[in-house]
Amino acid sequence: MITVFDPLQATHAPREFIVSGRPQPIPETPERITMLLAGVHRLGGPVVTPPNLPEVALALVHDPRYLRFLATLWDRWQRLPDAAPTPVPNVFALGRASLPPPAYPDSVVGQCGWHLGDGSCPVMAQTHQAALASAASAAHGAQLVLDGERVVYALCRPPGHHAAADLAAGFCYFNNSAIAAALFTQAGRRTAILDIDVHHGNGTQAIFYDRADVLTVSIHAHPSRFYPFFWGYADEQGRAAGEGFNLNLPLERGATLTPYESALGVALQRIADFAPDVLVLAAGLDIAEDDPFRGFAITTPEFAAIGRRIAGLQLPMLVVQEGGYPSPNLGRNLESLLGGLLS
Ligand code: ZN
Repeated sequence: MITVFDPLQATHAPREFIVSGRPQPIPETPERITMLLAGVHRLGGPVVTPPNLPEVALALVHDPRYLRFLATLWDRWQRLPDAAPTPVPNVFALGRASLPPPAYPDSVVGQCGWHLGDGSCPVMAQTHQAALASAASAAHGAQLVLDGERVVYALCRPPGHHAAADLAAGFCYFNNSAIAAALFTQAGRRTAILDIDVHHGNGTQAIFYDRADVLTVSIHAHPSRFYPFFWGYADEQGRAAGEGFNLNLPLERGATLTPYESALGVALQRIADFAPDVLVLAAGLDIAEDDPFRGFAITTPEFAAIGRRIAGLQLPMLVVQEGGYPSPNLGRNLESLLGGLLS
C-alpha cells in the first residue's frame, strides 16, 4: 500500500483553539504525523511525496474568493494596526441566506468573519502552505488510485472534512476528501464518500449537497450535543438533484462496536446500492475509546473489524486522514484500520 505524505504539513503548528469560550491547547498538532507515520511504517509500503497541487484542483470544490483569502490572509493581517498576532474574527457573516444577502467586504477583518467559521481554525504564517500540502497529498492519492492502485492512504494534516467551499472550521482549511472525490468524478468515476470520523463531515456534506453524482455518507456522534452541532442530523438527505444522496447516521455518545457495526451495515448497503466505481474513506480515528474527544469507544482490534467490513465493498479506495488526536494508540489504530482495509 502506498502512503502519500508531504512533510510541509508539519509546519502548521498552532498552540490553541477556543472551546467552551476559552483558549485551550489544540490537539490537532504536528505530533499526530509522527504517531500516524509510526503506524504506516509498521504496516510497510512506500511513502511518497506528492507534486504541487494546481489551483484548478482546489477550485473544483473551493470558492475563488476563499482561495485568495487563505493565500493572502497572513500578510494582510500583519499589516493591520493594533491587531492580535494571529487572525481572529470579531464580526460574523451570519444569516447568509437572509434577504438581502450580506455583501462581501474588502476588509481583511470583515473577510475573517466571512471565511473563518469557528474558534477552531487558527491561522499561522505556515497554515496556507501546510493546508496546500495536505490537499496535494489527497489529490496525488486520488491520481494513484486512478492509475490502478487498489488502496492508497493519504496522510492529510491539517484535516479537511469540516471545510466548506468558502469556510474554514474545525481544524480544517481545504476539504481534502472532497477534492479527491471531485478529481474522481472529473475522471468519470462514480464516487462515494464514507466519513467515519466521530464528528459529522459537514463541509463535505455541504459541498456535494445538491449533487447526485457523489454519494456522501457519515457515521458520527449525534450533533445535538457534539461538534459541529448545526449539521449531521438524520433528516439531512440532500437537496434538488442531490435529494437522497446524503445519508447521516448519528449515534449516541459513547457508542461501542455493536451499535457502530449496525450503522456501518446501513452505510455499506447504501453505498453498494449506489454502485460507485471508487470509494473515498474519510478516515477519522477519533472514534477510538482513548481519543481525547471521547465520542465513541472503539478499541484498537475493532478498527481492523471495521476495515474488513469496508473492504467487503471490493472497491478501489483512497483513505484520507481526517481527525484522530494524540493518544497512546493513535498509530496502532491506524495500522489496525488499514490492515483490515487491505485484508
Ligand atoms: Zn473528528
